[in-house]
Amino acid sequence: MGLEFKQIWKTSRTLAEIVKEESNDKVITKGKIKSIATSDHFGQALLSTAKTLSDKIKILQTTWFIINKPNYTPEKIYKIINDFYVLEVDFYVEETTKTETCGECDEGYVECNNCDGSGNRDCRYCDGEGTLECDTCYGEETQDCRYCDGKGTETETEEDDEGEEVEVEVECVHCDGGGKESCRDCGGKGNFECDTCDGEGTEGCDECGSTGYEGCGECGGSGDVESYESYYSIERTFMVVNGDSMQKYIDKPLTKDAFDEIEGEDPAFDFYMILKRQDYMSDNTAEDERENNEMEDDFVIVQDLIKLEDSNLRVPGLS
Ligand SMILES: [Zn+2]
Ligand SMILES: [Zn+2]
Ligand SMILES: [Zn+2]
Ligand SMILES: [Zn+2]
Ligand SMILES: [Zn+2]
Repeated sequence: MGLEFKQIWKTSRTLAEIVKEESNDKVITKGKIKSIATSDHFGQALLSTAKTLSDKIKILQTTWFIINKPNYTPEKIYKIINDFYVLEVDFYVEETTKTETCGECDEGYVECNNCDGSGNRDCRYCDGEGTLECDTCYGEETQDCRYCDGKGTETETEEDDEGEEVEVEVECVHCDGGGKESCRDCGGKGNFECDTCDGEGTEGCDECGSTGYEGCGECGGSGDVESYESYYSIERTFMVVNGDSMQKYIDKPLTKDAFDEIEGEDPAFDFYMILKRQDYMSDNTAEDERENNEMEDDFVIVQDLIKLEDSNLRVPGLS
């Protein structure tokens, strides 16, 4: 249930006295009245007699009329405040870039291109083999037989038929005449396990500290980039206006100049009061928004017009 006008009038007259006492300003604005009514102890008590946003706004406006329009009769004020509407307007007048998710990386990181994301690279000492060739046998696994120096034969002395000692070549028994024996340095394997990589053939990638990832160069590792395109930072404004003359502009984009002209000339704005402003970013680029709304420059869209008593807007300090 809303307040009777009688109560609104009485409360507003008391509030007007408080405001006049507390304010040294030459011009007492609606903003000033609101700030006193919501911060001063007595002001708060007065305003709290109104339970709805609608009645609170009516009290603030009536207080303003009492202070600034002393020749307005209560009947005239009654008529005005009972014809209040809440106008919702989107102002497309400020362009800005947007923070977007970087398309080049995953939350600021990219796969290391030195190791393809594995975190490892080929061991520099063994070229990724995990083994080092034996210096003695060069990987051949064998070396010259130490008994026959690789010849495969040994010289022996024996007596001939005449009893003379002669030298004869006989097959080396150690290498069965092959002249080779298993390499003693590497145990016949031809190579050694690489100490540096413990035979793994890999070592940590220096480039990425073995993580496999590097900071993204595109976004500096933050994962976010500034958009190339600009977007509208739309200022959604809710204000109290007189009457429903703004109805005809709903959803019809207006140039900023056209809107300013309406604001200057239409009686709807004679006693308007800003209730709330909130900014949000357009989904589409500024260019697309202009194209979609057939506008060449900044523009304004009237979104809604609701009778004050029917509005369920929440206003800081009043709701
Ligand atoms: Zn790497
Ligand atoms: Zn190695
Ligand atoms: Zn060897
Ligand atoms: Zn031999
Ligand atoms: Zn990035």
